[in-house]
Amino acid sequence: MNPYHYKNNQLCIENLAIKQIEKTVKTPFYCYSQSTIHGAYQSYTSNLQQLDTMICYAVKANSNQAIIKTLADLGSGADVVSEGELRRALKAGVQAQKIVYSGVAKTSHEIQFALENEIFQFNVESENELDLLNQVACQLNKKAAIAFRINPDVDAHTHEKISTGKSENKFGIPISKARDIYRKAANLEGIIVQGVDVHIGSQLTDLAPFQMAFDRIKLLVLDLEKENISINVIDVGGGLGVNYENHENVSYGIEAYCQMLQKAFADMNCKIILEPGRSLVANSGLLISKVIYTKQGEDRDFLIIDAAMNDLIRPSMYDAYHDILPISNSNNQATYDIVGPVCETGDTFARNRTIPQMNEGDLLAIATVGAYGSVMASTYNTRLQIPEVLVKDQTSSIIKARTDYETLINQDSLASWQ
Ligand SMILES: *Cc1c(COP(=O)(O)O)cnc(C)c1O
Repeated sequence: MNPYHYKNNQLCIENLAIKQIEKTVKTPFYCYSQSTIHGAYQSYTSNLQQLDTMICYAVKANSNQAIIKTLADLGSGADVVSEGELRRALKAGVQAQKIVYSGVAKTSHEIQFALENEIFQFNVESENELDLLNQVACQLNKKAAIAFRINPDVDAHTHEKISTGKSENKFGIPISKARDIYRKAANLEGIIVQGVDVHIGSQLTDLAPFQMAFDRIKLLVLDLEKENISINVIDVGGGLGVNYENHENVSYGIEAYCQMLQKAFADMNCKIILEPGRSLVANSGLLISKVIYTKQGEDRDFLIIDAAMNDLIRPSMYDAYHDILPISNSNNQATYDIVGPVCETGDTFARNRTIPQMNEGDLLAIATVGAYGSVMASTYNTRLQIPEVLVKDQTSSIIKARTDYETLINQDSLASWQ
């Protein structure tokens, strides 16, 4: 499901030519298709009708207010991992009772803020966090509804930096210790035990690890019931992969995943929470950039573009592949290393990539950047944070303006003795 197509050899997002956006927004910039996000959300809801579900969009994938609101308007909740994300979700109009709070290092201040806002659930990742949560809840005379994030010791077969469900990862409570901690929590004054949570990693290319994790979680829920600890909520996390390459390498879609969920949990009588991030927003986004220079090296040609690793870090951080498309299509092909201006060899978007031939001043689009793109941007090399644009049919709207040098530089101040 791509948001883009060519019309008269001009790349369009929805029904708007990229060239048209570029008349008023200087490159580099992100643009997102709203209808692609709608489509992804509806793939979930239309395939989950046999379960009582709540979709909590994992805000960290793209936390722009307009993106969160796009999903909140469809009924989505939010999965947040910090006070900042919680504030963003509330401000964008997500109901507190549709918010779950994940993350390994919630501080007492963050916990207090979340309790005061009466969110739906804390996903607790350790015994120490449980103790702190109980303590803060008691002080505020509140009760914290919790699920424990269980580490099922399943290999998600994904990039090591985004695998979270193996016993060596920092996430969650080992499944072997789960029963003890549930027993403890059930007796705490400030805690209401309501759920079980699992999230084994991101960009999974296969359904099998999900199935294995869900089987283990199901057994745990049945075990807990024998001990009179009743579980009403099963939070299955996110992690669905998207196809970054024009040849498909993710072996399933949202529909197949949902069918598996329905099968796995049909007989459980629980509310099922999903926390998709990437699979809701990745496909919607393009990063538009301009060729500053072409350069002939000894053994290869370079395209030096105005976007850099600080705008999109996935290629250098995860060795990620992104399709790169010309804005004006042509038949002549050429092979390039496509690199940014930052003083790091890692500032490379593609090596040895064959695409239609490009010249200085031409525009190109880096595809599938709606998730973990702009949210991971920095101002490294004192580069300005780039704009984001939301597109709906033939219209576009700036949803984040470019910062200016004054604002950026004035964030620093001299030391008192200077
Ligand atoms: C990152 C994260 C998600 C979302 O993962 P995706 O791979 O983007 O779907 C969901 N839940 C938790 C706890 C996460 O950390």
